Amino acid sequence: VLAERAAIPFGELKIDALLVSAPPNVRYLSGFTGDNGLLLVTPESLTLFTDPRYTIQAAEECTCEVKIVAKTPLDQAALQTVRRKRMKRVGFEAARMLFEVHQRIVKSLPRGVTLTPIGPVVDRMRMVKSDDEIARIRLSVITNSEAFEKAVRSIRPGARESAIAAELEYQMRRLGAEKAAFETIVAFGSRSALPHAQPTARKLGNDELLLIDMGACQDGYMSDMTRVLFLGKPSRRVRSMYNAVLKAQLAAIDAVRPGVTAAHVDRAARRVLEIEGLGKEFVHSTGHGLGLEIHEGPRLGRRDKTKLQAGMAITIEPGAYIRDFGGIRIEDTVLVTQNGCEVLTPTSKELRLL
Ligand code: ZN
Ligand code: ZN
Repeated sequence: VLAERAAIPFGELKIDALLVSAPPNVRYLSGFTGDNGLLLVTPESLTLFTDPRYTIQAAEECTCEVKIVAKTPLDQAALQTVRRKRMKRVGFEAARMLFEVHQRIVKSLPRGVTLTPIGPVVDRMRMVKSDDEIARIRLSVITNSEAFEKAVRSIRPGARESAIAAELEYQMRRLGAEKAAFETIVAFGSRSALPHAQPTARKLGNDELLLIDMGACQDGYMSDMTRVLFLGKPSRRVRSMYNAVLKAQLAAIDAVRPGVTAAHVDRAARRVLEIEGLGKEFVHSTGHGLGLEIHEGPRLGRRDKTKLQAGMAITIEPGAYIRDFGGIRIEDTVLVTQNGCEVLTPTSKELRLL
C-alpha cells in the first residue's frame, strides 16, 4: 500500500523528494490523522514529522518512519533529513503550503538544494478512490441517510432551524459518524434561497419549504446529501420548480460515465433548467468530488475538463433559488463505475410532505 500510495511521478516532476503539508494529503499517504504533521516523500521512503503530542497516535496509525520533533518547527527537522540524505531537488505543494512555512524553509535551505513548487499531484491521485475508500464512503452515506430519516420523523410545526440541525448531527454521531462533514444547513421558506444558509432560530411555519443539506464524516470519509421537504400543501409553483430540479438532477446522473468531462455532466443539468426557465436561478456548479475532504476534485462546473474515471466519488446537486420565494436543491453522492454510475444515496427523492 505504501509503495502504491507513494506513486508520485518524481522523474516527471524533476524532484528527488516532496514535502507534503496539507493534513488530508498527509493522511492519504501515511494514515496519520493528527493535524500537525509534515511528510517527506522520496521514491524509496516516507517519513512523518510530528510533535510529541502525537507520539502514541503516530506509532499506531503509521507504518512509515516517524520522527517526533520537540524543539524546532517540523519543516526544520525535515530539512535536516534533506541535508543528511543529500537530496537536491525538493518539491512542495504550491497550493497547500503556508507562506510562512515556505519563507522559513527558503531561509534555511541547505546549500545546493532547490525548492520547486508543484501542482496538485496528490490531490489528483486522491480523485480516484481505492476499494477501501469506496467502502468508507458508502458507510458514511448510509449513516447520513439513516440520520436524516430518524431526525425528520421528529420535525413538528414550530421547530427551529437550529434545533433540527442539532438533531441531524446528534443522530449521525449516534449512528457512527465522528462528526458532521460540514455545518449542517437547515433553511425554512424564503431562507432556502440562500444556497449556504446558516441555521437560525426561525420557527417552521405552515406551507413552508424546508431545505436540509447534510453530510457525515465517518472513518475520515465524507458524504453529502440535500433534500427538500414541505410542511402543508405545496403550491403549483413549488411543485413545478421541484420537478424541474429533479429532472435536471436525473439528467446529470444519466450523463455520468467514464470518459466524459466534468463540464459535460454540468451541461446536462444546466440544459434542463434552462429549458424549464430556471437557467439564471441555478447559481452554482452541478457537483464536486468528495472523500477525505468535503470538496475535492473534480469540480462539476462549466469549465472543468477533467475526464471522469471509474472510482471517482462525486455529488450531483443542481438547484434553483428565487429571492423572497425559496430554493430547491436535490443532491446525491454518486460513484463513477465502469459502465456509468451508482447513486450511493438511498433516500427517496420525492417531495416529502410533513
Ligand atoms: Zn451538500
Ligand atoms: Zn455538496
